[in-house]
Amino acid sequence: MTITRFAPSPTGRLHVGNIRTALHNWLWARKRGGRFLLRLDDTDSERSKEEYVEAIRADLGWLGLDIDGEERQSARFDRYETAFEKLRAAGRIYPAYETAQELELKRKILLGRGKPPIYDRAALDLTDRQIADFEAEGRTPHWRFRLDHETPIEWDDLIRGPQHFDPALLSDPVIRREDGSWLYMLPSTIDDIDMNVTHVVRGEDHVTNTGLQIQMFDAMGVAPPTFAHEALLVGSEGKLSKRLGSLGVEAFRDEGLEPMAVIALLARIGTSDPVEPFTDAAPLIESFDFDRFGRAPARFDSEELKTLNAKIVHQLDFETVADRLPEGMGADGWEAIRPNLGTVAEAADWWHVVEGPVDPVDFDADTAAYLDRAAEAAAGLDWSDTAWKSLTGQLKEQTGRKGKALFLPLRQALTGRDQGPEMAALLPLIGRDRAIARLSRRQ
Ligand code: GLU
Repeated sequence: MTITRFAPSPTGRLHVGNIRTALHNWLWARKRGGRFLLRLDDTDSERSKEEYVEAIRADLGWLGLDIDGEERQSARFDRYETAFEKLRAAGRIYPAYETAQELELKRKILLGRGKPPIYDRAALDLTDRQIADFEAEGRTPHWRFRLDHETPIEWDDLIRGPQHFDPALLSDPVIRREDGSWLYMLPSTIDDIDMNVTHVVRGEDHVTNTGLQIQMFDAMGVAPPTFAHEALLVGSEGKLSKRLGSLGVEAFRDEGLEPMAVIALLARIGTSDPVEPFTDAAPLIESFDFDRFGRAPARFDSEELKTLNAKIVHQLDFETVADRLPEGMGADGWEAIRPNLGTVAEAADWWHVVEGPVDPVDFDADTAAYLDRAAEAAAGLDWSDTAWKSLTGQLKEQTGRKGKALFLPLRQALTGRDQGPEMAALLPLIGRDRAIARLSRRQ
């Protein structure tokens, strides 16, 4: 059974980068008939907030990324403690007493000598006496995981291919702070084991962490899951922008975007599959695979999202959107107006044009005379489905006007605007009485 997890820290709202990671985990679980877990990495009790937990759930809900289970790290401290003690007894975790300043100094010295700033494991050489002295001074240790330098770190990444790290070139990671609080690395590994996670899908900023965590899986005697590290998301300008870091569901909602537009875009950017205006996630689930992912950053473009949204809106059925449409707007109204919309919310604006009053337009005398004729013709018209065709047909014959001169003044008088939905679809909605009043500039 495939099990994926999305593991945000509830220290803020989700942004478009997190959403993309969540989506890929969800798509993979759905494709494989597996489970998609929400795991809240809330070991940092000061920064983690319940309001963000709720916002994360709500955002996933809005996007349609349904979860099959939720776990919280803050409920699992006992479990981490047990694993910690075991690893410590096995010599894989050791206390270290350096202060932040001392560590920084070591780093600088190594860098100054042109060497990589790898932790020197001085803590492993401390005598009992030295440790007792530190404790007497009131120093408490932080804790490091001891990497096994003899075992090369290797995995076959579903996106990046074969990966290889020499553990001797990595610092033993700090896994627990002086105050006993946990850093993300070990709890995450324990969770992935306990929750039977089969695939860890996350950003490539985690590649080094994965190397370290693979040794933690080994130390706990469990085969690591399969990893897929996706290239990061960048803005259309090609950089990791601050704007992307604050762009999330709240902004998408405010802009009136459909969840499916966000899903359809984020599922495909950075892959070899084209971005397509799907109204349903099924084709995205079906086509999802890690071998489609490229190594170059995925580009997120807000304009592309808007265009995609419009293409999706143009396909939505009346039933799907009925509860978001203005009072009185029926299926025929929706179908007439739909092709002109960027968002569903804009339907209200066009419905206002149908119902009026429309903005008055200043016409010159010649055009005014033409519109008077149009009003007369409209009064004598058979108001069937083909009203627009009959009206313009008659006027063309009577006045010799054609093209823009024939059509534009009618559109302007009838809608107060220069462009918009097909007049053939709009005119029956405006109806006889309103059309005659508008053509006679009486509203
Ligand atoms: N909480 C971690 C993060 O948001 C989780 C990373 C992971 O997927 O393991 O970066």
